[in-house]
Parts: sequence; structure tokens; C-alpha cells
Amino acid sequence: MKILDRYRGCLLAGGVGDQLGNDVEFMRREEMLEMYGERGVRIMSQFITDDTQMTLFTAEGMLMGRKHHMPMPACVYQSYLDWYATQMNALKGGVFNKESVLFREERLHRRRAPGNTCLTALGSGDMGTMDEPINHSKGCGGVMRTAPCGLLKMIDTPDGEDAYAIQGAMAAAITHTHIMGYVPAAMLSDMVHMILLEDGRTLKEITLDSLARMMRLFSPEIVPAEGCEADDAPASGAFVSMLQFRELMSRAVKLAETDVPVDEAIMSLGEGWVGDEALAIAVYCVLKYQDDMEACLSAAVTHDGDSDSTGAIAGNILGAWLGVEGIPAQWLAELEMRGIIDDMACRLFEAAQVR
Ligand SMILES: [Mg+2]
Repeated sequence: MKILDRYRGCLLAGGVGDQLGNDVEFMRREEMLEMYGERGVRIMSQFITDDTQMTLFTAEGMLMGRKHHMPMPACVYQSYLDWYATQMNALKGGVFNKESVLFREERLHRRRAPGNTCLTALGSGDMGTMDEPINHSKGCGGVMRTAPCGLLKMIDTPDGEDAYAIQGAMAAAITHTHIMGYVPAAMLSDMVHMILLEDGRTLKEITLDSLARMMRLFSPEIVPAEGCEADDAPASGAFVSMLQFRELMSRAVKLAETDVPVDEAIMSLGEGWVGDEALAIAVYCVLKYQDDMEACLSAAVTHDGDSDSTGAIAGNILGAWLGVEGIPAQWLAELEMRGIIDDMACRLFEAAQVR
């Protein structure tokens, strides 16, 4: 497969998963089955949501950063302010990036249930970072938009394989500064990047390797000294969160190999309104149906929780894995703003060829 097809697959399938989940975000699973039949949601809604909008703005911010040598996360922050301006219908202070192709796209000015945390954070005038929290939000609004951070290495992030995870965390922490707001974003970016390496690892191996990297990067103290149980270690909030994160993600990986009914499995992982649960549900669906995008995305949206976000994240991962060819043709044809999304994937790919 051409690497470009993985870039395109990542963003296009993310959009498809998002749009598949749009109409059912606030529905219970029972209602969906009544409306769509026992196989779950397999009919696309009409529009993408804020998840895909913000993914596009993440990508554009990174491209701007590359072009103008702006550091992370400032370039992405600028781009999120552009997105914020599209949502507020008024330019706060008249500041927006005049180069933004996205800002000029009238369809991107429509409100698609934007997350409150994103609006509040971007309206505050303060950029969140991991070191300088602006809130305690661990909503999935961080992770659902950061797949592009796995597709392009920024000039200023540290060299080496940790860069993509750090970029993802930085982009999410702009608005979500609870550790569970940005670590899942780091893991999504990291997984997407590892898929691009095509080094023979399975999706399960990639998931577990990525989880190990998260533990090393974000909770080095989690590996207790010899003879010391994890329970004895100082229980900082972040430490406890990372232990729970490791447990949840490991459970998602194991569940995908069992015969536990899909709805039960997803329910046991949560509803996906928070970042760690959203990633866990997406990873479960991806591992369960790794050769079948339709089954994967249908499962990823047919549950009681945050359907469009879990659909978008699952689409990002499996789209990178299977490439654009893996996306059901009918769904791809119905994807709103398909051309814009595809173009953004191609631009990220081109920029990534320049070191
Ligand atoms: Mg949404």
C-alpha cells in the first residue's frame, strides 16, 4: 500500500466514523436498533461534526507551523482560534489567520454541537499546556481531533519516536488539561504514526507498544521500585489516573479477543464522553474488526455513549491501517466535505516528505 493511502484513509475514515455517529450521538443503543435494525447503525447521516472540523484545523495549524517555523503548540492554537471564530460567528478581536483555507470554507462555519470545553477554553484567551493547566477537563474533545499529530513531525518537537505522542498531547492540552484529556490524544497520534512505519507489527502489538510508551512518558514513576508495590507509591492524581488508564486500555485489548458480546464489552469500557473511555472503545472496535471497516465503525457508533467521537477515533486508526481502500465506497461517497478532508491528508503527506 502507498503511504499516502494511509494518510488519506486516516482522515477520511475518521470523517466517515464521525458522520456515521452524528445523528445518534445522543441516542441509546436500544433506540438505534429499533430505528436501524439489529446490525446497528450502517446508514450515514448527512454531516460531519465538530470532531472532523477540529481535526482539519489541527492539520492546518501544523501545516502553518511547518511553513512559518511556528513552534508547537502555538501553531495549532492559532488554528483552533480560527475554528473558534467560525463557531462564534464573530471574530474575537478580529484575529484570525488570513491564510486559512478552512476559515474561508463557509460550510465549516456551521455549528455541529461543538464541545463546551473547547469553546470555553478557546474563548478564555489562555492556551492550556500540560505544565500550565487551565481546567480539569478530561473530555474526549482532546483526543477526537489529534490524529494529524501522528501524520506530520513538527520541526521543533524532539527527534525520535516520542515526538508524535508529545505533539498529540500538546494539541489536546490546549483545551483539555486533565491528564486523561491529553494522554489518550498522545496515544492516538502515536498509534497512527506507528501504523505508518509498516514495520511488521500487528495492530495489537502497536496498541500495547503505544500503551507502554504512554506509561514511560507520562508516568515514569508508575514502574515501582523493586520490592515496592504500586499501591505503596505516592498516589498523586496523575499517577492514579495513569494506573487506571493502563488497566482500561489493557482490558479493551483483551476484550477484543473474547466472545463477550460487543454491546456488553463496549458498555464495560464506559460511554466515551471522556478521553480514556473514548480511546478504549475505539481501540476495542478496531481490534475486534480489524479487517472490516463497516463492522468496526458500526460497532463504534452503536452504543449509548459519544458515538461520533468514538466513531471518528476508530476511523482514524483503522483508516490508517487499511488505507482509503478499506472504507466502504458508499459511505465515502456520502462523506461531507470529502474533497477538503482528502486535500488536507494529501497536504500533510507532502509536508511530511520534507524533513
Ligand atoms: Mg462531535
